[in-house]
Amino acid sequence: MSEIANKVKLETKMFLGEHYIEPIDIGFFPTPLIVENRISKEIGRKILIKREDMVDVLGCGHKLRRMRYLLSGINYNEIDALVTIGSVPSNQAKTVALFARILELESHIIIGGDKQTKPSTLSGNYLVTKLMADFVQWYEFTSWIKMKEIAQKYSEQLSKQGILNFFIDSGASQESGLIGSIELGIEIKNQLDIEKESINHIVICAGSGASAVGLAIASELQQASWTIHGICIGEGSETVLTHSIDLMNTWNKKLGTEFNLEKVKFYDHAIGLGYDEPTDYEIEISEYILKQYGMLFDLNYMVKTFIGMKILLEQEIIPKGETIVLVNSGGNIGFFDSHSKKISNKRTEYGGAL
Ligand SMILES: *Cc1c(COP(=O)(O)O)cnc(C)c1O
Repeated sequence: MSEIANKVKLETKMFLGEHYIEPIDIGFFPTPLIVENRISKEIGRKILIKREDMVDVLGCGHKLRRMRYLLSGINYNEIDALVTIGSVPSNQAKTVALFARILELESHIIIGGDKQTKPSTLSGNYLVTKLMADFVQWYEFTSWIKMKEIAQKYSEQLSKQGILNFFIDSGASQESGLIGSIELGIEIKNQLDIEKESINHIVICAGSGASAVGLAIASELQQASWTIHGICIGEGSETVLTHSIDLMNTWNKKLGTEFNLEKVKFYDHAIGLGYDEPTDYEIEISEYILKQYGMLFDLNYMVKTFIGMKILLEQEIIPKGETIVLVNSGGNIGFFDSHSKKISNKRTEYGGAL
C-alpha cells in the first residue's frame, strides 16, 4: 500500500474507532489529485480535479469507493444475492453487478423510471450492466417511489424462495457505505497537504447528497473549513438536503458527534431536464471537454457538475482568486449512453486528408 493510502486508512480508522471496517480490496487508491492547467487557464481559476474516475476502468467511480465499505459491513458470506434498482444509464446498477461477480453472489437489477422504456440497443452503462448482471428486471414508466416498493417486494419474494439477499438502495450510502465518502475527504486533505495547497471550495456532483455529507464530516474533522458545493443532477436541492440531513443525523447518533451541514450548499441551476435527458447544450459541453481536455465527462453526472461549477464561478458565488477542487466522481462509461444516440453528425463527416 502506498504511503498516502496507508495514512488515509489510519486516519479513517482512528476517527471511526469501533465503527471502522476493512473495505473490500478493489480499486486503485489514492486516486490522483491533478492541477488541470488547461481548464484553469480557460476558466481563470486554479482548478484541481480529483480523479475518482480513475478508481477503476469500468467508471464505477465513487460508487465503488462506497460499496467497498457497504458490502464489507454486511455478512456477504451468508447471503446469495444482491438486489438494487437503477435507471438505464445507472452507474449504481453496474457497480452492484460488478461486486456481485467479485463476491460470487447473484445480482438482481431492477431497472425503470418515470419515463424509461427498454432501449432497443445496448450501450454505455446499460450494456456493461447487462453483460455482468445475472437478472435484469424491467419496469417501464414507473416512479422512483414505486420502484422502491417493487424492489422491497422483489427482495422478500427472493427470500421466500430461499435466496437470501441484500438490497442496496440508490446512492449506496446506507450502513457503512458513507465511510467511503469520509475517506474521500481524508484522502483529498492528505493530498492537498503534500502539494502545500489550501483550499476553501470543493465542487461535487449531488445525486443523493451522500458524497457531500462525507466531505462535510471529513472537513470538520480535519479543521479544513471547506465549503462543499453540491450540484444537483436528478432530484432537487430540497429533497437532496432532506436526505443528507437524515444521513448526517444517523452518523452523528452512531458516533456521538455533532457534525452539521452548515458548509454544504446544494444547487438546482444545472439540473437541466433531469436524469437521462441530456440537452443539446450538455451534449455540446461533453464534446467540448473531450476535444479540449481529453476527458470523458458523462452526461448524467459530470457534465452537469461542470456546468454547475462554471455558473458558481461566473456568479462569483465562489469568489475570484479561490482555488477549487472539482471531484470527477466517475461514471465515464456513461459517456457512451445517450450521447451516442444524439452525437452531432457533422463531426463524422470527414473533411481531412482522405
Ligand atoms: C451516484 C453518483 C453520483 C452521486 O453521488 P451522491 O453521493 O449520491 O450524491 C455522482 N457521480 C457518479 C458517477 C455517481 O455514480
